[in-house]
Amino acid sequence: MPRSQTSAERRVLDALDETELVDTLVELVRVPSVTGTDAESELQHVVARWFEEAGLEVDLWALDLDDLRADPDFPGTEAPRVEGHGVVGTASGDGEPGLVLQGHVDVVPVGDLTNWPGAQPFSARIDNGRLHGRGACDMKAGMAVNLAVARALHRSGVRTERRLALHSVVSEEDGGLGAFATLRRGHRGAAAVITEPTSGRLVTANAGALTFRIEVAGRAAHGSTRQEGVSALDAFWPVHLALRDLETRRNAVRHLLFADNPLPYGISVGTLHAGDWASSVPDLLVAEGRMGVRLGEDPQLARADLEDAVGVAAAADPWLRDHAPRVTWPGGQFASGRLPAGHPLMTEVTDAVEVVTGIRPAEAAAPYGSDLRLYTGVGGIPTLHYGPGDVRLAHAPRESVPLAEVVEVARALALVAARRLGAH
Ligand SMILES: [Zn+2]
Repeated sequence: MPRSQTSAERRVLDALDETELVDTLVELVRVPSVTGTDAESELQHVVARWFEEAGLEVDLWALDLDDLRADPDFPGTEAPRVEGHGVVGTASGDGEPGLVLQGHVDVVPVGDLTNWPGAQPFSARIDNGRLHGRGACDMKAGMAVNLAVARALHRSGVRTERRLALHSVVSEEDGGLGAFATLRRGHRGAAAVITEPTSGRLVTANAGALTFRIEVAGRAAHGSTRQEGVSALDAFWPVHLALRDLETRRNAVRHLLFADNPLPYGISVGTLHAGDWASSVPDLLVAEGRMGVRLGEDPQLARADLEDAVGVAAAADPWLRDHAPRVTWPGGQFASGRLPAGHPLMTEVTDAVEVVTGIRPAEAAAPYGSDLRLYTGVGGIPTLHYGPGDVRLAHAPRESVPLAEVVEVARALALVAARRLGAH
């Protein structure tokens, strides 16, 4: 049974302004901060100002992209990027922050505009208690929650034994460069909550993800005499089947945290490019996709697994035997990550969520890579995800978030912060 609240904890919860929380979310969604765009940078500057207004000391800096790209642990990027900014706000005082609340300001592109109501993906329209728009749940709602918690602590007038820090990062959607840069700059904390959408659960681990490229050669010929050539598309087929088999094999044994997920480590080809003329036999096919990395698996072993599978398929094929497919690894390279088993953050968040919602949240793992693996890995910061919204709506044309859930999460995390930081 979770313990009842102290008067300091109640003062923090009372200081949480729910109207302002929703207004902030609306403002956030209205900035089309697609990863790598100018709007992403603009939003970081707005966030820096909000952090300052919430009583935090702000570190706002321009990322040194050349320096970061040269780092052996550089996580990779997919969107073209000419600049990026980091923003960290820390409550005044000394010592390592006792709690970090982290969120990313970038969102994925909107896709086909006609799939959005009124062709307006950044309207932040509120309808039946849900706020709609690109980034609504992934993860501007989480960003708004983080701010609301900092504001509540600041305005409540409580004193805390340890400090709160907020991290606002760019480039989560294309590899985690913003989180990486924030950690490389030296920002740390005793524990972190990333407020990505988790549908009321606590996500304590995530699978990794690696972007691969496979180039398969064919032999060009005129389409009218196609048998004179070799279609790179046909040549790719056994490779694709090998990827399917590999996926089955890699998902045959699953971690308990993935008990309800039939395919936590998916392998999916996302783009295919072949040929340059309709009546020519294509002499090159380039397939790009992603493969999941198992919990605790070295990404290097995952890469070797895929390269071996392609190699075995090629060895069994008369054409590919002499024209070996080329596998490379451009773009995002996410290792898996996990909150250390038994870390007190798990109990603290579980108890606070139960106090606020009356429901003890389940623990789960996410099949996608996120900043969690950088915070637990590069940063050595025990980290979990808990945030408003359903990740199945993220990246989708009708992305939305229920406002009641946004408020609940903010209240639960305000309580976590008050307790973990020793509010009195
Ligand atoms: Zn996200």
